Formats: sequence, C-alpha cells, structure tokens
Amino acid sequence: MGSSQPHHDYIVMLPFMAHGHLIPFLALAKQIHQRTGFTLIIATTKRNVHYLRRSSSDSDIHFAELPFSSSDHGLPPDTETTENLPLSRVVDLFNASRSLEAPCRNFILESIGKHGRPPLCLVSDVFLGWAVDVARSFDTINVTFTTGGAYGSAAYASVWQNLPHRKTESDEFEAPGFPKRCRFHRTQLHLYLRAADGSDPWSRFFQPQISLSLKSHSWLCYTVEEIEPLGLEILRGLIKRPVWCVGPLLPPAALNDSSFSPSSSFSSISKQRVSKELGISAEKLFEWLDSQEPQSVLYISFGSQNTIGAARMMELAIGLEKSEKPFVWVIRPPFGFDLRGEFRPEWLPEGFEERAKAKNRGLLVRNWAPQLDILAHRSVGGFLSHCGWNSVMESLSQGVPIIGWPLAAEQAYNSKMLAEEKGVSVELTRGAQGAVVGDQVKQVIELVMDRDGEGGEMKKRANEVKLQIRAAMKEEGEHKGSALKAMDDFVASILSHREEKIPKIER
Ligand code: UDP
Repeated sequence: MGSSQPHHDYIVMLPFMAHGHLIPFLALAKQIHQRTGFTLIIATTKRNVHYLRRSSSDSDIHFAELPFSSSDHGLPPDTETTENLPLSRVVDLFNASRSLEAPCRNFILESIGKHGRPPLCLVSDVFLGWAVDVARSFDTINVTFTTGGAYGSAAYASVWQNLPHRKTESDEFEAPGFPKRCRFHRTQLHLYLRAADGSDPWSRFFQPQISLSLKSHSWLCYTVEEIEPLGLEILRGLIKRPVWCVGPLLPPAALNDSSFSPSSSFSSISKQRVSKELGISAEKLFEWLDSQEPQSVLYISFGSQNTIGAARMMELAIGLEKSEKPFVWVIRPPFGFDLRGEFRPEWLPEGFEERAKAKNRGLLVRNWAPQLDILAHRSVGGFLSHCGWNSVMESLSQGVPIIGWPLAAEQAYNSKMLAEEKGVSVELTRGAQGAVVGDQVKQVIELVMDRDGEGGEMKKRANEVKLQIRAAMKEEGEHKGSALKAMDDFVASILSHREEKIPKIER
C-alpha cells in the first residue's frame, strides 16, 4: 500500500479527552495516513482540536470540532481534558464525554453528505464505547483503539467488568482471564476502583462503556506483538476479536540511533510547553545532559497530570540525594495542591535544589520536560516513572529501565507486567501516598542505576525490548516488521468489511 495514491476513503477517530489519549490517536492517524493515503479525521472538542492542530507538524490530518460545554456538566468552564482536574472531578469529565455522541452522529451525517459514503470505520477510544452503536447505525464498523498496552488494558477491562476484589476478603485476588500466577493486590487498584460496587459513578461510567467497546469489530492496541505475548493472549481471550498491535507510535527519528538528535528534535508539543514551563532553557538542560557520563542520569516524572503526596516527595528527595546519582526531576506541586500553582521550597528538604546545583548533581524542571528527548539522551540510564503507557513505550524504545511508582488508571498493572514478565522494572511503591522512606528510595535507585549486577541485567533486557520495538517498524524487501504487518492486516480487514457490506459502491 503506497502513501502516494490519492484516496477518497476516510476514517473518523474519536479520542478520549486526555493528553495520554489524544497524542497516541494523533500518532496513529499519521501512521494510517502515511501507510494508506486515506483521509484521517480526528473529531473531538474545540480546545482539543486546537491543541492537536498545533501539535501536528503536517497538514495531512484533518480535525472536526464537536460542540461541547464543560459547564453543562458541572465542570469548570473550558475544561476539556483531565489535566489539572482534581481526581474527584475526573469522573465528571468521563460522564461528560458521553454527550459527544449526538454531535458525533451529526458530524458523520454531514460527512456522508460530503463524501457520498460512510467512513471506512470509526476508530474510537476504549472509553467511548457508544461509538459502536454510532458506527452500526451508519452501516460502518467500529474499531476500538486502546492507548494502553495489552496486559494493562486487559487487566483494566477485566477488573472493572468483574470487580473480582469484591468477591474475597483477602487482599489478593485473581482477575478473570488472567492465569492464576498473575495474582493482583488491592493496592494495585485505583482508590475509586477499590471502593467500586457497581452502583457508584465510576462503575456506572466504566462498566457500560468498556462492555460496549468489547463488542466492537476489532481492537487496535498501542503495543508491539513481540513484547507482550502474555498480555495479548489474555486480551485476545477476553475480547475474542482481532487485536492488531500498531505500536510504537513514536517519531521515526526516535527509533533510529543514528539520526535522532535530541536537542534539535523535540516533539512539537513538548517544544511549545518547554518554552512556557521548563523553568530553564532547553539548551541548558541538554548541555547539562551532554556533560554527564553515559547512562548515569536518573530521569523522574509522573506523566502529564499526576503528582505524589507532599511527605512522599520529601522522602523521594532524601533518597535521591543519598544515592548521589545525577538526576533530572520534573516536579509539580504535591497531591492536594493546585497543580498550576507555584512550587514551594518547603516541599523539598531545606537547601535541596541549591546543593544539587552546587554539586552539579541534578536539575529540577518545573511541570513539564521534553520527555522523549531526555530518554533518548545517551546519559540517561533510568526512569523513575508512574508507568503511564506512553512513558513506558518511550522508555523501552530507548532501552531505559524503569523504577515504577504507579499512581492511577492501569499504571499498577503496567508496573506489574514490566517487573514480573519483562524484568525491566522494579516497583518502588504505589499510589500518591504510597509508603516509602528515603533509604528505600536510595536502595532501589542504586540497584537500577548500577551498571553491573541486577541493574546491568535490567539494562540488557530493556535493550532487547528496544530492539524488538524498533524491528516492529522496519520494512526491508519482502520483510515487514510486526507493527507494519498489523497495520496492513487492519486495513485489509476494514476494506473487506466494506466490500461485503456495500458491494456496489464505487471504489
Ligand atoms: N510528557 C512530557 N513531558 C512531561 C510529562 C509528560 O513530554 O513533563 C509526555 C510523555 O512523554 C508522554 C505523555 O506526556 O508522552 C504522558 O503519557 P503517559 O501515558 O505516560 O501518562 P499520563 O500523562 O497519561 O498519565
């Protein structure tokens, strides 16, 4: 399938409104467009369209604004993503996302008028299960795209659907679809899931939406076939439909050692945010990284919207300082404080930042850093991460082992898989208020950053995963990497569905 052929076929994509969902949707749209020449239209709310448009360096992807008013749903005005929304209000945004169904139907009607045919398919977020019915009513199909990995997505779906922790007194439980050896622990569940009983607002959103998504024609998963054999076996067993692994959804330059030049190739999103939020210039950050020993620096970040409790932040700083390892730490105010507010010095041990500067030990970066570029830098040797799936794929694509501190969503399942199945991560603690003391932090940092011993083994394993991730995107002669093959199979499948459904349509 060449990218040069002009195409009248189009696909409509419906992401959930959160940074960690919007960005992989945009990357997937680009990948499908480049591979097929189809027109790709991402339909979402106005502010998110604006954000994606600014983030999209080419004009090949189309956007459609779906009318949405956050205040109609009791949310602060102009709230169109989960970012900066207190956790207790996130469920309101989830519920509000259901109101996109009617505007989405209108948009598809208009599109049919314009293109003379329905879209080839709707690719919708796992949280927007209503899209299955929308697709059906327009005689097209719905394909669910999970922006999580296979293991994490399967665990998330299984636990929300079955609430297995409610059926036992024990802290440990089995999740339907998972082998017995993969026992889960109550502390791996998000606070709201731990308390869920099927009638609470979170269950009332997740259960029906996930269950609808389980009925879609097929799934696309942001992972690589070779790196998640167990997760994929479980996910395929649960949904009993094709699952195509289309990852890694990263810029090609980040998958190629020889051509990636971090200080010049920030993703455009990071570029915009860096200039606003970094607190030091990007040049200085990379100059500092350039001056460090290979694989010596620990990068610390909890993703686009999470943060840890104040007491935990203090212990993390104490342990980090004791470990004497160089670091780049993306800090934001602790849990319970305004994430957009000023960072107060009393949240860190007295003189922490000054000592780090004086000893040239590390950098504190405010709120946001160019993460992928940092992970790709040769001096970065470890990532203390909340195990959000984008962060996981970014880290592993660069062969960087992980120290897990999962906080929410399916992150604890990702952390479990990375430690138990892949041996590329050690979990430090769990949850924003997870028990942790400085000495433990020091010990785990030393273990993972050690170039010999267990740290060295983890690094080797992370490197093997990096090679598998990169191989998935390679095409040489007749040989296609697994992600490219999956993409072609997905396209062949939706085209053949259209042929069966509308045999007389002019193609
Ligand atoms: N990110 C970034 N700089 C930051 C924090 C996050 O570039 O300071 C990017 C990161 O590279 C990743 C995404 O934001 O692509 C975070 O997604 P993830 O799934 O890891 O976590 P989430 O933010 O959804 O919890």
